[in-house]
Amino acid sequence: MADGSKIRELPKGYSDTPVIPGTTWRVHDIDRPPPPVVEPPTFSTQDHAGRPPSDAVVLFDGTNLDAWEGRNGAASWNLVDGGAMEVAPRTGDIRTKESFGSCQLHVEWSAPTAIHADSQGRGNSGVFLLGLYEVQVLDGYQNATYADGLPGAVYGQYPPLVNACVAPGAWHVYDIVFETPEYDGETLVSPAFMTVFHNGLIVQHRQQVQGPTKHRQLASYDKPHGPAGPLVLQDHGDPVRFRNIWLRPIDSFLAT
Ligand code: MG
Repeated sequence: MADGSKIRELPKGYSDTPVIPGTTWRVHDIDRPPPPVVEPPTFSTQDHAGRPPSDAVVLFDGTNLDAWEGRNGAASWNLVDGGAMEVAPRTGDIRTKESFGSCQLHVEWSAPTAIHADSQGRGNSGVFLLGLYEVQVLDGYQNATYADGLPGAVYGQYPPLVNACVAPGAWHVYDIVFETPEYDGETLVSPAFMTVFHNGLIVQHRQQVQGPTKHRQLASYDKPHGPAGPLVLQDHGDPVRFRNIWLRPIDSFLAT
């Protein structure tokens, strides 16, 4: 200890305790490997983006769009002040060069302060896991629209549990856990699940997703796809901004 006093040493585990059902480990097993040490992220403020955790795949830190591509090659969205990027309307969606499956995803976004339309015409964008499953981005602050199109919605399927929107121009934070669906050939073995926190509030609680996102149609899993795909950000014609985007792949949700 800093003050030079001796600390009292206690057991670091046990080898005479019962085995935990479903595992090979004993209760408080002394041989059970510890998890990796990760330096946690720092929180963002309205003025400054936080720092990603030490084990994250950093997809956007404000300096460049190197992790992204657009429909004609390089991503053509604009780098703007505040370590952010902005949708260049009608240049198309952008997607990561790398593909991801089940993951923890952190995304921050802000809606434009200039308002030219209401409902789905106000600050519309989206975060698409695997390029298929949309968590809606929209300026939902005092803006009437259909519930399953609000921010934090699994678009067209499940409204957010609450509307946690801040005013246009302010930064929103999404923390998303996505569990990728599994197919055996043409047969769906396990659907996708989404957990979403919007500005720190849970808005999707391990929601079972009905299939890739559709507009004005029912979703289904009738078109099998692989377990991974790019992360896509939507160009819906509005200059929505994004910052501090990072992702942590999760190989398995079944801890051993
Ligand atoms: Mg959208």
